[in-house]
Amino acid sequence: MEILRTIESYRELYVDLQGPIGLVPTLGGVHEGHLSLVDAAKKDCKTIVSWLFLNPKQFGPNEDLNSYPAEEKEDISLLDQRGVDILLIPKTIDIYPSDFDTVVKLGKITELLEGSRRPGHFDGVTTIVSKMFNIIQPDRAYFGEKDAQQLRVIQKMVKDLNFPVEIISCPTVRDNDGLALSSRNKYLSIVERNDALSLYQGLHNAKASFENGERNADIVRNVVIQEIKKSPLITIDYVSLSDPLSLVEISGKITPPALLSLAVHIGKTHLIDNVLLE
Ligand code: AMP
Repeated sequence: MEILRTIESYRELYVDLQGPIGLVPTLGGVHEGHLSLVDAAKKDCKTIVSWLFLNPKQFGPNEDLNSYPAEEKEDISLLDQRGVDILLIPKTIDIYPSDFDTVVKLGKITELLEGSRRPGHFDGVTTIVSKMFNIIQPDRAYFGEKDAQQLRVIQKMVKDLNFPVEIISCPTVRDNDGLALSSRNKYLSIVERNDALSLYQGLHNAKASFENGERNADIVRNVVIQEIKKSPLITIDYVSLSDPLSLVEISGKITPPALLSLAVHIGKTHLIDNVLLE
């Protein structure tokens, strides 16, 4: 694996790269979820480029930028072992020079759910993803369904702004007990991790009730809420049942597909998860 630390060095290599080029971006703290994106990219691309950058602009002032559980050496080794060809680790000063003054901002879709409790978060995401697409110039870019809203926001940005890249969505990878893999799981104590199992249990129960014919949105949301409430360490930020494209909340009767998503805090740890009801 070639490790690059400047945009110029990537540009020099880029002219000779064999397409299709598949891009797998991460903030770091690489786990099997990220590596499943590499596997997906390897299936249909000739060159796999990964991007490792802890983007400060998508973190709020009271969030975990400074303690984010990412270990560069370990991340490099995992991406290398999984078959990434080129890894770009840009420097913050090259991405955001002192005179940087541009924001890529989408509309309503970024104000709902995560956007409502993390103001400015998606502006940071869409700005860095735009820069990343312009720098890497991939044919395909791989994103996880674990971050369902992020995926929708990026799909919408690519459509609205005509980025010449195909967005490939990849299913959520979970531990054997159902907990969705996340870099932030490293923050959890054993007791907290045990409580966190109620997230998937709640989503799973709600999906089962939907599959058994329940179509009342409030009842389905409530199945999740009641399950999570059994875990004393968890504070619910939201449990949402929304249209999967617009992310507008569904009231009354569910007409599938619908996105059932949630965000919670366990102590200081912020976790999200979702399932699609189809
Ligand atoms: P992050 O480093 O958290 O920004 O994640 C980088 C990419 O990995 C994003 O597209 C995430 O949606 C994806 N990802 C994170 N966790 C998982 C998971 N458990 N399963 C599948 N994809 C994931």
